[in-house]
Amino acid sequence: MDTLYDRQNDPRAVIEADRAHVWHHLAQHKPFEPGPHALDPRIMVEGHGLRVWDITGKEYLDSVSGGVWTTNIGYGRERVANAVRDSILKLCFWAGAQGTIPGALYAERLIEKMPGLSRVYYANSGSEANEKAWKMVRQISHKHHGGRKSKILYRDRDYHGTTLAALSAGGQQERNAMYGPFAPGFVQVPHCLEYRAGELAGEGYGERAAAQIEEVILREGPDTIGALCLEPITAGGGIIVPPQGYWERVQELCRRYDILLHIDEVVCGFGRTGTWFGYQQYGLQPDIVTMAKGVASGYAAISACVTTEAVFDQFKDDTDRLGYFRDISTFGGCTAGPAAALEVLAITEEENLLANSTRMGAYLSSQLQTLMSRHPAIGEVRGLGLFQGAELVADPTTREPLPEKQVQAIVADCLAQGVIIGASNRSMPGFNNTLLFAPALIATEGDIDQIVNAVDGAIGRVVG
Ligand code: PLP
Repeated sequence: MDTLYDRQNDPRAVIEADRAHVWHHLAQHKPFEPGPHALDPRIMVEGHGLRVWDITGKEYLDSVSGGVWTTNIGYGRERVANAVRDSILKLCFWAGAQGTIPGALYAERLIEKMPGLSRVYYANSGSEANEKAWKMVRQISHKHHGGRKSKILYRDRDYHGTTLAALSAGGQQERNAMYGPFAPGFVQVPHCLEYRAGELAGEGYGERAAAQIEEVILREGPDTIGALCLEPITAGGGIIVPPQGYWERVQELCRRYDILLHIDEVVCGFGRTGTWFGYQQYGLQPDIVTMAKGVASGYAAISACVTTEAVFDQFKDDTDRLGYFRDISTFGGCTAGPAAALEVLAITEEENLLANSTRMGAYLSSQLQTLMSRHPAIGEVRGLGLFQGAELVADPTTREPLPEKQVQAIVADCLAQGVIIGASNRSMPGFNNTLLFAPALIATEGDIDQIVNAVDGAIGRVVG
């Protein structure tokens, strides 16, 4: 019998099976429909380090870690595969009230990296982890505040997932269009992108941006708000690094108004910004942290919602038959997830990938800044570690965004050159204009040079 990968010897059969039956994520399907001008769906087949190959044999440098900033340690790591294999053969799955060896040992290792937090609740996607967090907030509200302190604040341009409650906390209009009505009790606060802050920008902007959150808290009533949920650096919304003074003020607001601080580390976790978690760049003490993509670097599906002991304590009332967290995640019971995650964490330490993320991120940022002098279409470069963005403009003075068609043409030009880059597309009408770079944390100067050269050529050809 053929193995799965022997079918690769008949690429046409795979392509046609895909064309006929796979409904791709985030894709227009019309161009792939049978007909004289039909495009072939691109089938990705193999990866080593930062390089991936498609079914036609074309090689790419992947600067977006699997498309959505996930494969932090790169492709083809045998020791992760072995750990997954061992865990599956030993006990592939157990969910419910009992634990597993990989689940227990990974929780212990993870908590070492998160001083002040102590409890790990497993799930299997970023959206799900976020929903766990908000269910915790709601249960605390019912148990301790008569159900009143139930609102979740989220920020314009942030994204917290694809499920309906997560979209209810979604600050990206184009992702939300057509999926309402949304869940009640989610309230938006303004973004903190100084480049687009108009009159508010300038000295002291961080405090002013945070003050806008306070206005919403006071308008809604602090006693109705259970949590404030923020990305440490807004990812798909355009790589927004919060301005100086912002986080100090946000932490202080949460303390003053007794609001739980929930940081969504689904993208920024595990060294993406150069520290284990993005919030650690700012000395924050969150109450709840959610994580997904980098946990097992794409080798297995796993996410987690991590809390302080103080949050956990509120679910310990054994005089109440329903006092515990009344939630489950079936696939939060797959042992492959924590088994892979243990190896990913060890590799991150052994290969000093946090330091490499910081060093190579600074190099990527400086190379992109250099491009700015040649290409006025680059309005701003921003990011931390190996998480960088370049906002493109039609006019650097007015900052009018470069039209999405041209941004997409730049991405396509890079792809043709064998470099996969991302863009903040399908997020905010008129503002899908930031190129995104998040290569695996093993990137070298040579890799960065290849990425930046591709972008240089692409902008030159598309914008002139
Ligand atoms: N949170 C953030 C910041 C994300 O960028 C994403 C996905 O891109 C999610 C949550 C949702 O994660 P998932 O797609 O695993 O549900």
